[in-house]
Amino acid sequence: MESRREKNPMTEEESDGLIAARRIQRLSLHLSPSLTPSPSLPLVQTETCSARSKKLDVNGEALSLYMRGKHIDIQEKIFDFFNSRPDLQTPIEISKDDHRELCMNQLIGLVREAGVRPFRYVADDPEKYFAIMEAVGSVDMSLGIKMGVQYSLWGGSVINLGTKKHRDKYFDGIDNLDYTGCFAMTELHHGSNVQGLQTTATFDPLKDEFVIDTPNDGAIKWWIGNAAVHGKFATVFARLILPTHDSKGVSDMGVHAFIVPIRDMKTHQTLPGVEIQDCGHKVGLNGVDNGALRFRSVRIPRDNLLNRFGDVSRDGTYTSSLPTINKRFGATLGELVGGRVGLAYASVGVLKISATIAIRYSLLRQQFGPPKQPEVSILDYQSQQHKLMPMLASTYAYHFATVYLVEKYSEMKKTHDEQLVADVHALSAGLKSYVTSYTAKALSVCREACGGHGYAAVNRFGSLRNDHDIFQTFEGDNTVLLQQVAADLLKRYKEKFQGGTLTVTWSYLRESMNTYLSQPNPVTARWEGEDHLRDPKFQLDAFRYRTSRLLQNVAARLQKHSKTLGGFGAWNRCLNHLLTLAESHIETVILAKFIEAVKNCPDPSAKAALKLACDLYALDRIWKDIGTYRNVDYVAPNKAKAIHKLTEYLSFQVRNVAKELVDAFELPDHVTRAPIAMQSDAYSQYTQVVGF
Ligand SMILES: Cc1cc2nc3c(=O)[nH]c(=O)nc-3n(C[C@H](O)[C@H](O)[C@H](O)COP(=O)(O)OP(=O)(O)OC[C@H]3O[C@@H](n4cnc5c(N)ncnc54)[C@H](O)[C@@H]3O)c2cc1C
Repeated sequence: MESRREKNPMTEEESDGLIAARRIQRLSLHLSPSLTPSPSLPLVQTETCSARSKKLDVNGEALSLYMRGKHIDIQEKIFDFFNSRPDLQTPIEISKDDHRELCMNQLIGLVREAGVRPFRYVADDPEKYFAIMEAVGSVDMSLGIKMGVQYSLWGGSVINLGTKKHRDKYFDGIDNLDYTGCFAMTELHHGSNVQGLQTTATFDPLKDEFVIDTPNDGAIKWWIGNAAVHGKFATVFARLILPTHDSKGVSDMGVHAFIVPIRDMKTHQTLPGVEIQDCGHKVGLNGVDNGALRFRSVRIPRDNLLNRFGDVSRDGTYTSSLPTINKRFGATLGELVGGRVGLAYASVGVLKISATIAIRYSLLRQQFGPPKQPEVSILDYQSQQHKLMPMLASTYAYHFATVYLVEKYSEMKKTHDEQLVADVHALSAGLKSYVTSYTAKALSVCREACGGHGYAAVNRFGSLRNDHDIFQTFEGDNTVLLQQVAADLLKRYKEKFQGGTLTVTWSYLRESMNTYLSQPNPVTARWEGEDHLRDPKFQLDAFRYRTSRLLQNVAARLQKHSKTLGGFGAWNRCLNHLLTLAESHIETVILAKFIEAVKNCPDPSAKAALKLACDLYALDRIWKDIGTYRNVDYVAPNKAKAIHKLTEYLSFQVRNVAKELVDAFELPDHVTRAPIAMQSDAYSQYTQVVGF
């Protein structure tokens, strides 16, 4: 390709001079931030070139200990196992079929050789289960998903939707991988709309069996993980049809889950009445064998109904402790939120890997610099900081938020507390959706931040991006999940006015309706001191104010439009508003958890580093939405400017401790195995990859 320099009529010297002058101009702006002196911004105001070397001395070990949590041991066991088994590491180039076999062998190795038994933790110690998932997902994301299908989806549905008889019969086989299985919910015509599923399970009282049928092509189970090659069983979601003595002859009891054997235990041949096709090569996650399932009058014993929320007796009588189809459906799906919790948590793991690679590379890579002086690290460019430092701060923010989600989920599994169930349901939907959308975008930013080298497959962004992309869709499409959060907020908003209680995560709404919705205070709207802007109270108030306003406004809009458009039409008319509300609420929860984590950090230097990151997270978000705050005069013009300047300053401060912040993730080398991310000897390792 013709280079730009070849087209330029200037001499090389002139051209270099111009570029250098432009760079110097940029750098000088960058090195001495043009902040107008303000008594309220003492630190910013005195920031000069020399202050750049003034850097927080962070106790990396203490920070790392605070971040890594209590399951370091099992994660290290997993990393050591795969490190010692090059034959189980996924090569850069691999065919779909080989990848599927390798992925199955990785799982078998993990379970039968390394002795890691994820299934034992699915119900009893979910925190440990998610730590395992994070570790195996960073070895190969296909492995993380394959493990999730086997233990969280197939195994989880058996133990969470079934009863003791199912646990007794299936637990060991699922645990040791003799009973490989699938989770067959989605159909060709219905993915997000699970209540629209058409597969039927009709009770035959004569034979005491259910008959599973795919009534039309649209009801073929589609995208089912483990179905194309390895699965022996499937949890099939189908409408339960019971014979009745009235004129209709049958009664549809709604969607229930059934265990359906799909392959012979000995020969692995597909069983009679079951047809299986391969969903083929995918954009990513090709280590997972997704398939399509069609059932033609497949008979299963009555006992195969997973009967925790609804049962059928020998004579065909239906019983349930829950009064309506909707309540039973809600309870069934409620038991499956573990998958979402796992995806949110794993997505933060992906974000850590990709931010680590991009930031290490940016510290190492040098381009341009002042004349006759060494080139500067690309992370010293304000633009690179702008791309990566708020991302690093966000990674920390999401880490603490998802750790909190996992804790709440574990508590919920133990207590079954009703309010906690509701809280975890909405929080897992919100965090899964928010974090996976963020990570998907961040992966592209990281690739671009590493220039051309970011595009080499060996440096991992391609596979991370392709494998992670679908996190936005499966276990609930993000746009659909955010609507659940919005619906929940509206429900609680309504309850609040009817004197109802609010669960923990939502409790700020109680105050917000009274405090935050009064007119913005004209005095505080003008406060622009650094102490004030870095005060968690200001930051949280700003987030809560935004959520409360969005909530109040959308509630009024829905009420107005529903008179003419009906409930469905009104919701659709306000859909974007509702999505913004849900995101705003989730950001508020994330900030609250980050502030709490900073407060609880025992080591002062680690705490100071976290505080920098937390302030950057908060102010960057406020700045990104500054129009909203300005529109209602929540911040005066000068305060908006001060927020912007402080955000840039914090970006720069976080850059100074970026190495310590990424090191604290303690990702092993073979996880961030991108050669460009190696700290020393980077380019020689990289050149070896291409054969020099
Ligand atoms: C690799 C992979 C693995 C999978 N594994 C499994 C598995 O093991 N088991 C299983 O059961 N399923 C599995 N799935 C299916 C997955 O769960 C579904 O794809 C997912 O639920 C989304 O459904 P859908 O594809 O029908 O999308 P749709 O629901 O058709 O969504 C398409 C688009 O429409 C939008 N949309 C839909 N409804 C609304 C609404 N109400 N408001 C606004 N926008 C809306 C969505 O935002 C989306 O952008 C897998 C899928 C893939 C790709």
